[in-house]
Amino acid sequence: MRSKPTPQIRAIWISLVSVRELWEIPPPRTLNSSRLSVSVPVGRFALTDSLTDSDYRYPPWISKGDIEIDDATFSPYYDRTAVCVFVRIDIETVSEYQTQFLEAVTVDTKSKDRIPGVTEILVDELFSPTTDWRGGVTEGGGTGDETIASDTLTDAIVAGQKAATKDVQEKIDEIRRSASRAADSEFQEHRQLQEQRINDYHNELASLSNRLQNASTDIDGANSQQQRVEALEKRQELKTKKEGLQAELEELLHEKEQGYTQKRRDIYRRHAIEVNTQPITFTIVTYERGEIEFSVGTGDRTAVVRTPYAIGAGVTNEVQCDNCHTQLSTENPISMRAGRLGCQNCL
Ligand SMILES: [Zn+2]
Repeated sequence: MRSKPTPQIRAIWISLVSVRELWEIPPPRTLNSSRLSVSVPVGRFALTDSLTDSDYRYPPWISKGDIEIDDATFSPYYDRTAVCVFVRIDIETVSEYQTQFLEAVTVDTKSKDRIPGVTEILVDELFSPTTDWRGGVTEGGGTGDETIASDTLTDAIVAGQKAATKDVQEKIDEIRRSASRAADSEFQEHRQLQEQRINDYHNELASLSNRLQNASTDIDGANSQQQRVEALEKRQELKTKKEGLQAELEELLHEKEQGYTQKRRDIYRRHAIEVNTQPITFTIVTYERGEIEFSVGTGDRTAVVRTPYAIGAGVTNEVQCDNCHTQLSTENPISMRAGRLGCQNCL
């Protein structure tokens, strides 16, 4: 897909930033970023009213209400550009895991706001093998001659990377907790092993003390000069061995006193989690923004609600009740009483 890009595509040939995060467990994470390979968009896609066949996304404050939606009319005012980026997220520790995710995120190039509705359309419709939406895709140039500044594009893609990481944050935390537990138990094991070793040293030293005692008795009770020399040599040998073991034991005890800092650091470093995100591919999407007019009613009474709307994204703004200015939501949908439009709050 990267062979022979058209001049237009080459114009927005950019280098992508890979966000690399390293988690020490438990010390706080550090953040590395590095520049990565270049990439080109896979076509352009224009999301228009005609393409969606007037299949509008009704906001919950209208669909959850007790009124009928008789009609909806969209008036496009202008086009906005978004980037749908596919981000690969690798989570790995040096020792055990490697988990990969592929997340699709669409970000408006201007506001950097996410537009989940557009992602949904692209993933469900455009990339579905049975789709008849492919007519909306154009190679390279597309719906206009406008080019996106490469830094604008990079910013949008980086915003997409961050959003994608946020999407899998729960998984990352879960893996991190699990790696942390693995590090804890490995360190615990090390401590127990050292405890055992210290015990062994104490036993060995006690036995050496006994043997030294015996060697002294042998020296005192030697019957010949040769026997005495041999016993002296033996005692010296045991003494040297004891001193050696004592030095080793002291070192072990010193490490214990220090809380096995070095070992702890090594273990936790080995279990640290690395999260790498890399944009794999992206598509440029233009989508129409404008206003939608909903005709709503109960029985024979009707009213009209107008609100900013974008194809693919749905209602783009928070909307307040005309009557009481309370924000409309799933919990506070619009309502109608005696031909008067309001919300649950005021009617
Ligand atoms: Zn109200």
